[in-house]
Amino acid sequence: MKVPFVDLTVNYAAIKGKVDNAVSGVLSSGRYILGEQLRLFEENYAAFCSTKYAIGTSNGTAALHLALLASGLEQGDEVITVPNTFIATTESITHAGCKPVFVDVDVGTGLMDLELVEDVITKKTKAIVPVHLYGQMCDMARLRKIVSDNDLILIEDACQAHGAYYDGNKPGHYSDAAVFSFFPAKNLGCYGDGGAVVTNNGEIARIVKKLRNHGRSFKHLHEREGYNYRLDELQAAVLNVKLRYLKDWNNKRRTLARAYSDLLSELVVVPSVQSKMWCNFHLYVIQVERRSRWYDYFDKYDIGYGTHYPIPLHLQPCYEYLGYEHGDFPVAENRAARIASLPMYPEMTYDMLNYVVSTIRKIKKVVK
Ligand SMILES: *Cc1c(COP(=O)(O)O)cnc(C)c1O
Repeated sequence: MKVPFVDLTVNYAAIKGKVDNAVSGVLSSGRYILGEQLRLFEENYAAFCSTKYAIGTSNGTAALHLALLASGLEQGDEVITVPNTFIATTESITHAGCKPVFVDVDVGTGLMDLELVEDVITKKTKAIVPVHLYGQMCDMARLRKIVSDNDLILIEDACQAHGAYYDGNKPGHYSDAAVFSFFPAKNLGCYGDGGAVVTNNGEIARIVKKLRNHGRSFKHLHEREGYNYRLDELQAAVLNVKLRYLKDWNNKRRTLARAYSDLLSELVVVPSVQSKMWCNFHLYVIQVERRSRWYDYFDKYDIGYGTHYPIPLHLQPCYEYLGYEHGDFPVAENRAARIASLPMYPEMTYDMLNYVVSTIRKIKKVVK
């Protein structure tokens, strides 16, 4: 048997008729940028997130860049985030002229360790960007309190957390804004690049909307330079179709994750989910010793896998200038050496899951 890490073709096959219709509707409409499909998607996605506003952007990185700019961050401000995330998180921070400051993560969840946050707050700190890693949200009530006590801005990197909840509330509820990516392999993905900012703050929404379209207020009037960060009509039309299935797809991932955890908990370290969390299981990440040997076996048995992420950002060559060293974030570093993402997508079958589990049983006997 072959079990891919993710297979987007099965997903497309199941909704092909609806997607093809939506796409051909856009193609024959003659309107490809900033049209009805985007307007509709923004309405639909704001409703889905229970926020007042959603603004489509060209990708998740652009969404975070704009959310930071729109909340008033300036050159030289420090922004606290975690080292175990995709580089897009810190790229957006530096694109906004700010300096990423890292804080270590919780050993079980890999989420920002809220015990440590206040230690790295300085006079220059302006914002905190938590990452809802693998689809599990941070403790937002506690983070909200830290942010309010220190008069900071809170922007959520929810690029992996479509439809996730903390205590019944989705990203965007406790923060100034939350940002999403619709990269194809995300829980809600389009067929190209896409992203969104969601917020309850009318001023942030207004600025994001302006900046994503060259800063223009009217056709030829620019008070401030902006960017070409728009979500196009084709992707918006696809997202309008796929959004209707998101809840169902997330539930399927959760059922698979539960089955994985039931069968694997004696064999490997399985994901730890906190009590108030409704995790969307964007990724199902286990922890093992001697990972490269596990990967050799996965290759041999045709099982797809990934590492999210193998090199923490504070140890990336491009961030050498920040002055961090090996050992600065022991938990993140330790997790980076042990994490392995298993195949996980809504259309994965139980036969596939059982094959992955039985292969892990075999590997466990030989890799000690
Ligand atoms: C995917 C992702 C992003 C970036 O999204 P793009 O749409 O690829 O720009 C940012 N942060 C995290 C945590 C992500 O997983």
